[in-house]
Amino acid sequence: LTILGLETSCDETAASVVRRAADGRVEVLSSIVGTQFEQHAPFGGVVPEIAARAHVEAIDAVAAEAMRAANIGFDALDGVAATAGPGLVGGVMVGLAFGKAVALARDLPLVAVNHLEGHAVSARLGASIDYPFLLLLVSGGHCQLLEVAGVGACTRLGTTIDDAAGEAFDKIAKSLGLPYPGGPALEKLAASGDPTKFDLPRALLGRKDCDFSFSGLKTAAARLAEKITDDPQRADLAAAVQFAIARQLSERTDRAMKLYAAAHPRQDLRFVVAGGVAANSAVRAALQRNCADNGFSFDAPPLAYCTDNAAMIALAGAERLALGISDDLDAVARPRWPLDEAAALSNPSNS
Ligand code: ATP
Ligand code: FE
Ligand code: MG
Repeated sequence: LTILGLETSCDETAASVVRRAADGRVEVLSSIVGTQFEQHAPFGGVVPEIAARAHVEAIDAVAAEAMRAANIGFDALDGVAATAGPGLVGGVMVGLAFGKAVALARDLPLVAVNHLEGHAVSARLGASIDYPFLLLLVSGGHCQLLEVAGVGACTRLGTTIDDAAGEAFDKIAKSLGLPYPGGPALEKLAASGDPTKFDLPRALLGRKDCDFSFSGLKTAAARLAEKITDDPQRADLAAAVQFAIARQLSERTDRAMKLYAAAHPRQDLRFVVAGGVAANSAVRAALQRNCADNGFSFDAPPLAYCTDNAAMIALAGAERLALGISDDLDAVARPRWPLDEAAALSNPSNS
């Protein structure tokens, strides 16, 4: 199956062509990501109205570029997959409407993809991974541990009770005076810092569930950032923040791994981390130690597919199409769309 994927749920306009063989092997023929960093940077964060307009302006050219780079014509496509949520609804509507137009004009099946399901399959863009697996989804808007049993079949083991991990990186980066988007900038600054120079709060310690909390860390870091006077101290605080976030992700993942292993005796134990924060090398290293400790295999997407991209949307669409699942052209854009409801919306009996 050769699929055109479209992603417009936040601040990148992305299009990609992915080919998925019947045996599950995946080839990314093109992946174009047009970021809007420059438009949003003056505001220190994503402005929804600006994002929606920027998607309208960019989508034609980005999709055309993805087709050109893949070196195929529209007649070589077997389907179109577009993010239908969750996200900033003005942007989601742009990509979804574009996808519907291509589907209608070329008589192709449309798959309305849950953006989080895209993140959930993104590690498959680099390696073949069998179901089921334990997934840590750590992005700008989400921080969840999920058991993924198959396409669209997710059970949530835990979630954040306040901020997402990426959101914590971004907000703390802002209070350290780093430019938007903050996560990558904070990682760079942390590289020259000493994480032991600041003592940051450890949330939810000893709790028996798999939930996360980052708001206490955010407040503590912001208070410390105000008092900082020199650059070495800023680097130390960045390193301490990164260490604290990685430690919490690791502590909660360890708990989830033990629950998962108990629920899946005598089975191969697979762990996957996905989402923008999976690009962070300290986070990856901490999670790799979890895997070694608990006997899980470790997979993460190639770096380019951690943050938002359309290749993961195309692949999620291809996996659904391979099962005969597609959506009607009246599929709606959804600002909220929890991953554990993904199956219900796109169930074949609904279309
Ligand atoms: P969601 O997928 O939940 O709707 P999103 O699409 O905005 O949110 P992603 O694009 O997956 O999120 O990830 C972006 C987030 O990842 C941002 O919060 C960004 O700061 C963070 N991030 C990206 N690279 C790094 C890094 N190297 N270290 C830490 N955080 C990072
Ligand atoms: Fe995302
Ligand atoms: Mg983004």
